[in-house]
Amino acid sequence: MTIAPAPGAAGLRYRIDLDALVRNWRRLAGLAAPAECAAVVKADAYGIGIEAAVPALAAAGCRHFFVALPEEGRRARAAAPNAAIWVLEGFFETAAELYRQDGLRPVLGRREALAAWAAAGAGAPAALHVDTGMNRLGLDLAEAAALAGEALPRRAGISLAMSHLACADEPSHPMNATQLAGFRRVAERFPGRTRSLANSAGIHLGREFHFDLVRPGIALYGGASHPAAQSEPVVTAEAAILQVRRARAGETVGYGAAHRLVRDSRIAILAAGYADGYLRAAGAADGRPGASVVIAGRVCPLLGRVSMDLMAADVTDLPENAAAPGDWAELFGPQMPIDTVAAAAGTIAYELLTGLSRRAARDYFG
Ligand SMILES: *Cc1c(COP(=O)(O)O)cnc(C)c1O
Repeated sequence: MTIAPAPGAAGLRYRIDLDALVRNWRRLAGLAAPAECAAVVKADAYGIGIEAAVPALAAAGCRHFFVALPEEGRRARAAAPNAAIWVLEGFFETAAELYRQDGLRPVLGRREALAAWAAAGAGAPAALHVDTGMNRLGLDLAEAAALAGEALPRRAGISLAMSHLACADEPSHPMNATQLAGFRRVAERFPGRTRSLANSAGIHLGREFHFDLVRPGIALYGGASHPAAQSEPVVTAEAAILQVRRARAGETVGYGAAHRLVRDSRIAILAAGYADGYLRAAGAADGRPGASVVIAGRVCPLLGRVSMDLMAADVTDLPENAAAPGDWAELFGPQMPIDTVAAAAGTIAYELLTGLSRRAARDYFG
């Protein structure tokens, strides 16, 4: 199945493996059981596409989806008519009609937001977001404790109590235990509600972090959330080789002449760049090594800065005919972990995925 590639798309393609997505979800659901496993599909399902990801996960048995914004909730609803769809950024009164029509459930983190949701009378349940130490969204512990004795949570239809871990990807970080203890205290004050704390990495922190519902995102999409995680890659990004050129030791490659060749080289010019979300920081410039791509099964380091639409890879060590115009280079996927590329660019897989190019061809299979 191919979903709406840009007309005439060429040069850059993504192969998106929905079977791998489902296998990742099933593995996480197995780890979390008897807790239920949701799916976080904010930011267009981490770039892979809500319209593709949500039906695949719903068919596998996923019944809870988390989005960031109501518009994403509308798209998730169209893809999963019977699921619970939670809007992490809360209740936007300007979009009240969307919540009503599509039965979207806001995640509420301010007393005023609970009151506004109760007053809107949308009827759908809502979640209470408690901040246990991240200092992002949610009521702090004292505010949540005060609220517990009031009628407002009931009037606002609070059926889920949740918090979010700041350091779950560092299992030994003391923040994990602090947040767990804080969340336990709050959850006790909201009996009968579904409780949810763990993101992808949190699932690996152990049973006591699972509560009733876990909320993985990145591990569904192939990011390594934890040393013990074994997510399968979901996205394979490939760029076409446009030209292969020879250059002599001492010459430079790319903008700023920021990379000087130390040997006579063959250089493959690839049809992808930072306009495609392949970060400029992944380049090899000013003496720093960069990321690598895989061509004909061999790892080929980038040379020079990443341009807007182009980048250069070192194919000197490949057999003469192994890299030719029209061949494909894997930017990330089964042969080149997305986390390795992200690390080379000083970032995380989340940023590479949510930056997936809009002009690439997308082939969905599974
Ligand atoms: C994004 C997000 C998640 C998912 O986090 P991952 O690290 O991608 O698993 C879970 N809960 C909340 C509140 C989030 O914002």
